[in-house]
Amino acid sequence: MNTTRTTPPRPVDVTAVFPEVAPLARTATRLHPRPGAPAPQDSSIGGPLLWPADEPWPHCDGLHTDGSYSLEAVQVERRVQARVAMNPDDPRAAQYTPEEKAILERLQRIDIDHEWPEGPVAMLPVAQLYARDIPLLRTLGPSGADLLQVLWCPLDHPEEFYMPRTAVVWRSAADVTDILTSPPGAHSVEFEEYVPVPCVLAPEEVTEYPNSSELSKELQEQLGDWSRWEAAAGVDSSYAPYPDSFYWSHLSVAPGWKVGGWPQWGYTDPAPRPCPACGTAMDPLLTIATFERDGEDDSWIPYEVQAASSSTGDRYRDVVQPTRVQIGSGYKQQLYICPAAPEHPHIELMQ
Ligand SMILES: [Zn+2]
Ligand SMILES: [Zn+2]
Repeated sequence: MNTTRTTPPRPVDVTAVFPEVAPLARTATRLHPRPGAPAPQDSSIGGPLLWPADEPWPHCDGLHTDGSYSLEAVQVERRVQARVAMNPDDPRAAQYTPEEKAILERLQRIDIDHEWPEGPVAMLPVAQLYARDIPLLRTLGPSGADLLQVLWCPLDHPEEFYMPRTAVVWRSAADVTDILTSPPGAHSVEFEEYVPVPCVLAPEEVTEYPNSSELSKELQEQLGDWSRWEAAAGVDSSYAPYPDSFYWSHLSVAPGWKVGGWPQWGYTDPAPRPCPACGTAMDPLLTIATFERDGEDDSWIPYEVQAASSSTGDRYRDVVQPTRVQIGSGYKQQLYICPAAPEHPHIELMQ
């Protein structure tokens, strides 16, 4: 199985057409998740964390409504989905192992409504990212940290609709000698889509430019002026009536899960993101995306999965929504970090 992912070069060098955006270039690391069987020593989405055995596991003490699904049952299905994705031609991959059968049979025997205890809810691993795979983390996180771990509460909170509450943990991997092997798990989850399919990653750095709504009014008008684009090689003339869409789709912000870069906007207009502790404007840390592509942005599809992205069924989904995570009705959850003091509380936005 091909394990690298290569984003094709942008169809146009935007800085040749609009030199004004050159100083705004930022590096983002696309994570390119694909279903797999990650270990605690791997960067992953929905994989096991390198967590010290003697450190308390994060719990959410928010006000919860009960979830509708058993976490254990959903995790069994997620493992099966990862297996099928890794072995698409082997019909046995879809069969439950004896261990998985035993879990599902045990869950059928209990009266779930009466077994779910109240109290703080164990959070669920969402992302584990090593700086050796994603060097950008060294500039975003606290000095000395080389491992970012993101967990979330798998239940919704009455005041925070449609977006799971996250915990962000930075650490030095070398400090973890004794690994926690059986982390606690919540009893129930709000949606199956809050439980990622275990995925390994193929991090790749790309260059991004701001969403047009973050540019000056003057520059926004120029982006919409077809005569500026016409002279550039590689511009698709079908965009002549709306050249700013060409910029939006192919030249500015990459789709999918990523670290750093520029935020995508669309659910709301750009809004200030001051640090709640010190007021400094915060930087994008992690984008948790429902989909690996947005609308017409086919040019961002890596070479290695272009064939699969034009197939159907599960193979298509493994490319477009490999984690099966869904935020709201198909949005992104953006986590921001304080550049002045990375240990300040993070904030999050849905876009
Ligand atoms: Zn919670
Ligand atoms: Zn701050």
